[in-house]
Amino acid sequence: MKGDTQDMKPRNPKHKLLLGPGPSNADPRVLRALSEPTLGHLDPDFVAIMDETTELLRYVFGTKNELTIPISGTGSAGMETALVNSLDPGDKAIICIAGVFGERMVDLALRMGIEVVRVDAPWGKAVDPEDVRKAVRQHPDARIVAIVHAETSTGVLQPLEEIVQITHESGMRIVVDAVTSLGGMEVPVDRLGLDFVFSGTQKCLSCPPGLAPITVGERALDFIVNRKTKCQSWYLDLSMISRYWGGERFYHHTAPINMMYALNEALRIIKEEGLEARWARHRLNQKALIAGLEAMGMRLVVQPEYRLPSLTTVYFPEGIEDVPARMKLLNEFGIEIGAGLGEFKGKVWRIGLMGTNSTKANVLTLFAALEDVLVSMGAKVAPGAGLQAASAVYSETE
Ligand SMILES: *Cc1c(COP(=O)(O)O)cnc(C)c1O
Repeated sequence: MKGDTQDMKPRNPKHKLLLGPGPSNADPRVLRALSEPTLGHLDPDFVAIMDETTELLRYVFGTKNELTIPISGTGSAGMETALVNSLDPGDKAIICIAGVFGERMVDLALRMGIEVVRVDAPWGKAVDPEDVRKAVRQHPDARIVAIVHAETSTGVLQPLEEIVQITHESGMRIVVDAVTSLGGMEVPVDRLGLDFVFSGTQKCLSCPPGLAPITVGERALDFIVNRKTKCQSWYLDLSMISRYWGGERFYHHTAPINMMYALNEALRIIKEEGLEARWARHRLNQKALIAGLEAMGMRLVVQPEYRLPSLTTVYFPEGIEDVPARMKLLNEFGIEIGAGLGEFKGKVWRIGLMGTNSTKANVLTLFAALEDVLVSMGAKVAPGAGLQAASAVYSETE
């Protein structure tokens, strides 16, 4: 009997502009790379792609770290990899929390049987280095300090220098979540000597979700090589995974082959543009976005010096209903922006300009659409104010 597909709805997702907290749109070149023929995971042609990918990842991370590879899984798998390969059950970890993703690290660590020392920042603010200093003094037996570089839930960019210094002076290792910063701004891996950094593909790398690039410094590698206990996770055990990525090509699990093509292409695109130019592009488009939002009478959540180039949080106008406004933007213009989280739920929007999506065209398109949506819902917005202010930022620099 033939299969009956009559009840199946057609599946053909439309193109939408993803200007939320992620995923962001994948570059079309990356999507084409995904559809290239699948090779065996030990095929010499694939091995060559692996080698080039690690080389490109070192470039994007700004590091010479040998162990710089993509983990199979999304950014959260990178987070879990960092923790299970940095700590034994019963160890103590100082975890900085300035939003949802810091909280997620706590959740993971507690599940692993880690003794967690919390360092909390108020919602919408960065973690204060003095609070880290206090925690480190009170808990000199902690092994790591873990912190989020770009807190996607609040739009806060966490300054790292001082906290890294405090961590290293106390003999601890620093674990950094760079999921929303990598590819959109500098992640100072070798410059500051970050010990373990993880990221994800679907934010500023403009690749679909599915891989978590990581880089592991000497001190962190030392722990992995010399630990007496087995890593709690078989799947994320770097002592085994590194044998596949290193010279031995020892089988551990089948690499997500086509995602590796996609990441390889995404990294080539970044290399072609150049890191500095890419960071400057993110800053320019963020500047135009902020100018437009403020001209429309909206207030930014984060203080200027802590604003993330890749994600902006803004209080939307009073009297506007959150969900209907975002649905209108999605249904009528095919533009997705993100809702507020935690204390910001129902008060702010999160607008991402990540990787390929960080363009003048997208910023100006957003303002045209946003004005239409807000005016149709009764907001008082000066006609063309957002568009004009954003546009002026570009004319200043062109
Ligand atoms: C998105 C994100 C994650 C989680 O990544 P997933 O790909 O959703 O698993 C972790 N940390 C930060 C800062 C993020 O923005």
